[in-house]
Amino acid sequence: MVTQRIIDFLATRRPDGPCLVVDLDVVEENFRAFRRALPDSSIFYAVKANPAPEILKLLASLGSNFDCASVAEIEMALDAGADPSRISYGNTIKKERDVARAHEYGVSLFAVDCIEEVEKIARAAPGARVFCRVLTTGEGAEWPLSRKFGCVPAMAIDVLTEAQSLGLKATGVSFHVGSQQTNTEAWDSAIADAKMVFDALAERGIVLTLVNMGGGFPTRYLKDVPAAAAYGQAIFQSLTRHFGNRLPETIIEPGRGMVGDAGVIKTEVVLVSKKSAADENRWVYLDIGKFGGLAETMDEAIRYPIVSHRDGEKTEPCVLAGPTCDSADVLYEKAPYPLPISLTVGDELLIDGTGAYTTTYASVAFNGFEPLKSYVI
Ligand SMILES: *Cc1c(COP(=O)(O)O)cnc(C)c1O
Repeated sequence: MVTQRIIDFLATRRPDGPCLVVDLDVVEENFRAFRRALPDSSIFYAVKANPAPEILKLLASLGSNFDCASVAEIEMALDAGADPSRISYGNTIKKERDVARAHEYGVSLFAVDCIEEVEKIARAAPGARVFCRVLTTGEGAEWPLSRKFGCVPAMAIDVLTEAQSLGLKATGVSFHVGSQQTNTEAWDSAIADAKMVFDALAERGIVLTLVNMGGGFPTRYLKDVPAAAAYGQAIFQSLTRHFGNRLPETIIEPGRGMVGDAGVIKTEVVLVSKKSAADENRWVYLDIGKFGGLAETMDEAIRYPIVSHRDGEKTEPCVLAGPTCDSADVLYEKAPYPLPISLTVGDELLIDGTGAYTTTYASVAFNGFEPLKSYVI
């Protein structure tokens, strides 16, 4: 969202080079919208989406919890003022010594998706609470997470049973319906799976209490997406459909939906050219590309809105590319991007909806280009 605060910041500070500007007011509005949409669920912000200390501090002060994927992210959440009881170690792939470190910090909630990981946690974090991640199809998501994380629900039953028998607290089930999930009904079948696992464990005398419903809440890019309230309604209906009036404790872990629309990247046109006299498309090269933070343009999955002071003038489709010497550094080519014909070298563009998954995806110094600068205002 190109807010007035972001426009004013860029106009007065005139930062050189590409940079991300994040408006904390938008993050706060998003947090409040999630809280309103699912008032009975705890919010665990997925730190990886944007770990800027100012964002973590704001969210900690608003009462957010944190979903962390590494010891470093746990330390960031602690530094922001979060109590360890408000941190979940949600990565299913952890070194045993990292589990031990988290345990020393007081973190007591861990994700698993196999017995091998349960064994590590039983050794390194005795007595901890664990939830088992189940696979989802990722259908309806523009950035699916598919097969890498989770196990089939039938296996989750054994994983949690083993956890309990090794002295851990088998606590519940988690899933992630895929990032940028535009279908509000996508949670339903995973919630049904969770209920199945709850019932199977109950038969073994183990009472699960928690359903971690992950992230997936979208940011508006070029197309409209349903509001948080619509997701809240659909999810609440699914929970009551499958769990009746014995609703479990629930968690959501928004990342993209919390910060995506709070950030705007300022970039500059470095070159506009054609490959031949007959070339249909102009090539527009920016000072940021896939290696500068726009990694989610991979396969042209995420299509960001681009704002120019020439908007309203006649446009034509352009191939949009980054500045590095890797030919993979092309943002949009299969589906060229309409940009004003008058666009010229030195023009500034604003790439909207870039608050999530940009700064942390920027390379350290590929071709000598600095990592993406970030200002949180
Ligand atoms: C990345 C991630 C999230 C956040 O996903 P979004 O689609 O950005 O909301 C939530 N939970 C887990 C376990 C994740 O890995």
